[in-house]
Amino acid sequence: MKGHALTVADSAPVIAKPGETGFDTATRVFNSVAIPEPAAATTARTVEQVRNALRYATEHGLRVRMHSTGHGAGAVRPVRDALLIRTALDGAVTVDPTTRTARIPAGTRWETVVKAAEPHGLTAAHGSSGSVGVVGYTLGGGLSPYGRLTGLASNTVRAVELVTADGRHRRVDTESDPDLFWALRGGGGGFGVVTAVEIDLFPVSRVITGAAYWPGALADRLLSTWLDWARDAPAIATTSVRVMNFPDVPDVPEALAGRTTFTVDGVVHADDIGAARLCADDLLGPLRALGTPLLDTWQEDAPAAVLRAHMDPEGPLPIVGDHLLLHEFDARASASFLDVLGEGSGSPLVGAGLRQLGGAYAAPPSPGGVLDRLDARYSYAGSGLAADPEAAESLRSHCTKVRHALAPWNTGRVVPSFVEDGTRRQGHLDTRQAVAVARVRAAVDPEGLFRDDISPTDLRQE
Ligand SMILES: Cc1cc2nc3c(=O)[nH]c(=O)nc-3n(C[C@H](O)[C@H](O)[C@H](O)COP(=O)(O)OP(=O)(O)OC[C@H]3O[C@@H](n4cnc5c(N)ncnc54)[C@H](O)[C@@H]3O)c2cc1C
Repeated sequence: MKGHALTVADSAPVIAKPGETGFDTATRVFNSVAIPEPAAATTARTVEQVRNALRYATEHGLRVRMHSTGHGAGAVRPVRDALLIRTALDGAVTVDPTTRTARIPAGTRWETVVKAAEPHGLTAAHGSSGSVGVVGYTLGGGLSPYGRLTGLASNTVRAVELVTADGRHRRVDTESDPDLFWALRGGGGGFGVVTAVEIDLFPVSRVITGAAYWPGALADRLLSTWLDWARDAPAIATTSVRVMNFPDVPDVPEALAGRTTFTVDGVVHADDIGAARLCADDLLGPLRALGTPLLDTWQEDAPAAVLRAHMDPEGPLPIVGDHLLLHEFDARASASFLDVLGEGSGSPLVGAGLRQLGGAYAAPPSPGGVLDRLDARYSYAGSGLAADPEAAESLRSHCTKVRHALAPWNTGRVVPSFVEDGTRRQGHLDTRQAVAVARVRAAVDPEGLFRDDISPTDLRQE
């Protein structure tokens, strides 16, 4: 009897209204600039709890939204008149070293996956921060510090487990439902509540990784040297450059506090660590010759060190930012970039820079989902911290200024996982793709229970 009662209690999620117990936990987000205000919220730890939540939403005439960590909270449509399901599914990450795959319950963060894979000499196409959630990142594309080798992280997904609007729990892969599986990988959401994903892992034992920070005054020569190297750099290297305006606070290393720096970070990974070392020397040698870095953490290390290289902040934080995909970045682009973001520009952004694309981003080894390649050479991202609404407005207006400055090189496309602001006109699918994805959505969610979850970037503005 006791067991039965527990099962019933466990399968009934606590659906909380604003002010009720459980509401704050279920609505907590990493990006605190966009705290969701749904009609009701719940944390689902089991598939049965997800099912019950969907039943509740249907009975109360609510749409359904879901999140995991809230890293992407700034990019979504307002969460109103909805039941928000925070997915924190029970269970461990399981790694199969034979097939080099991992099954990951929804709600898991990348640091947990990296930790589980490392004893097997494996890692994943994770993002730069260990606190990012696996589900939103992988289904939204996912730019990894290994990305020029792995391609978009959405290409590494082997199967998706989800509860659809009809309450069915499905495991979707190329065999079981090729159309839904195709649309899930980069289609922009709105298909159901994902409860787990299975992804490919790849072998890594040692990497060359880290970041070097030079005084901002050297940015011009450093940027042009990096661009010369990046033009035909081998795919074993994935790097990024940023202008960073460090606050003068105790958490920031003394050498950087209160300074503007030009930063080069990334990962070089090859089966032959000697080849990786040579490649890193090719990159860093000419840069170090231009000036001594204020801080230089580049070194040979274990794969877990990759999660620290980019120095992403711990949250929650009120982030306002923007993202563009650029088809080129020439000397004129560099001048425009430094004009609005370099030292002395008055930029309020904490970090703004470029991630190197190409390699497997441009030519994935095999076709994946609807978003499986990027026809762009660089990804731009810049963001700052909004202490109050005025600061948020000033950041948004500076993001617009950067947008104008980089307009000649803007492809008009984005990677959904990288978008910080869902209100801007931009897209990630062409019309043909968007129509095909909408057809899949209509088949799996005919009543539109999840329609507000659809990414605002779904349709490219052509
Ligand atoms: C510090 C920081 C570092 C980052 N680094 C990178 C990086 O290196 N590369 C990169 O590509 N991106 C990066 N991002 C962006 C990040 O990938 C996105 O914010 C992504 O959406 C995070 O996924 P999440 O599940 O943690 O976020 P959430 O905000 O919880 O979810 C985002 C969206 O994913 C969907 N979703 C989440 N869970 C579920 C579920 N269970 N079922 C169905 N849909 C779901 C929903 O549509 C939701 O709105 C970074 C963000 C931050 C703040």
